[in-house]
Amino acid sequence: MIDFKALAKEYGTPLYVYDFDYMSVQYTKLKEAFGGRKSIVAYAVKANSNLSVIKHFAKMGSGADCVSIGEVRRAFIAGIPAYKIIFSGVGKSDEEIREAIEKDILYINVESDAELQRVEAIARDLDTKARISIRVNPNIDPQTHPYISTGLHDNKFGVDLSTAKRMYIQANNSENLDPVGIHFHIGSQLTQLQPIREAAEIVADLIRSLEALKIELKFFDVGGGLGIKYDDEVTIEPYDYAQAILGTLTGLDLTILCEPGRFLTANAGYFVTKVLYEKQNGEKKFVVVDGAMNDLLRPSLYGAYHEIEALSNSQEELREVDIVGPVCESGDFFAKNYALPPLKGGELLVIKSAGAYGFGMGSNYNTRGRSAEVAVENSQARLIRRRENFEDLIALETEFLED
Ligand SMILES: *Cc1c(COP(=O)(O)O)cnc(C)c1O
Repeated sequence: MIDFKALAKEYGTPLYVYDFDYMSVQYTKLKEAFGGRKSIVAYAVKANSNLSVIKHFAKMGSGADCVSIGEVRRAFIAGIPAYKIIFSGVGKSDEEIREAIEKDILYINVESDAELQRVEAIARDLDTKARISIRVNPNIDPQTHPYISTGLHDNKFGVDLSTAKRMYIQANNSENLDPVGIHFHIGSQLTQLQPIREAAEIVADLIRSLEALKIELKFFDVGGGLGIKYDDEVTIEPYDYAQAILGTLTGLDLTILCEPGRFLTANAGYFVTKVLYEKQNGEKKFVVVDGAMNDLLRPSLYGAYHEIEALSNSQEELREVDIVGPVCESGDFFAKNYALPPLKGGELLVIKSAGAYGFGMGSNYNTRGRSAEVAVENSQARLIRRRENFEDLIALETEFLED
């Protein structure tokens, strides 16, 4: 049990707390699900990009899936070896592509024909051969929230099958490109196995048709997206997930790469916020807390549900309240019509499942410094990012102030 009251006292609120032991358990579950098969679990850094979090996974043998050169640099600093780092994303700049090639990462995940031309040109300029994979958009509905669906032609990600095939042929004929992998990622918070299986089948068939052309790939990259329990979702077991994927690969000798983010960190994270006061507008009751949408955006952005626990000994009856922050937006809420006991100023709320897409989506909106982050490992707590103060927030502007 994590003593949130003690942590809030020591580090202040609002505060992110991460259970590193839970992250280890999740990593091991997934790694073991692929059993004897050659596999790389490449942690999707964007889910929680704190250096200590990445380092924790690095120590377990994880790779890193990055979507900007900034994330690639973080992965290096945290100790992920180059040969386990991949770089995805629909809009890589020339500078990012160049640095990724120079750093000799495992591969660049190419998301369009135009990008393939850029990667080839830059590799030629560097007089080298760039390892690539191509992100295929299998046009599968992942049955998740539309904002986190990525595997439909309506979404901006990847290329269709026939374009992919043409790109592989071009890459294979190029002096400066080495096609080593194939990739798909159909969405996030997936709780249905069938769309994953279908996508894997489609992509495996493409691999077979490429083999017929003597284009031999090494990596089958199934993306991330494994869903977690926020509320009462029935989630996919890692074993079933692995079996569904492996089942599509009969006769193919490939290393499986998967890129989980949320699965590894979401339920390891807690956002601890302090009650400032309660207020009533007509019939409506609000609990105003010191954390806000600039700390944890998911409820505002996706209408996401997070379980919330009040650290209160109150025996009084629960009432339905909206839990809101101080930011000047009506969208600044953590929950609506949520049953909580009456709360006094100074009491704490713990917002659960906050370890993925929490801190990283934070901002300084309303000139609010971002929270501190704390890791708990073997019952020991340690600071892994200090709280931002006012000086941090103005530091990049003060020198430009005119008289
Ligand atoms: C976001 C993303 C992931 C991680 O998604 P999760 O749902 O957090 O597992 C993996 N791969 C790619 C390409 C992504 O964009």
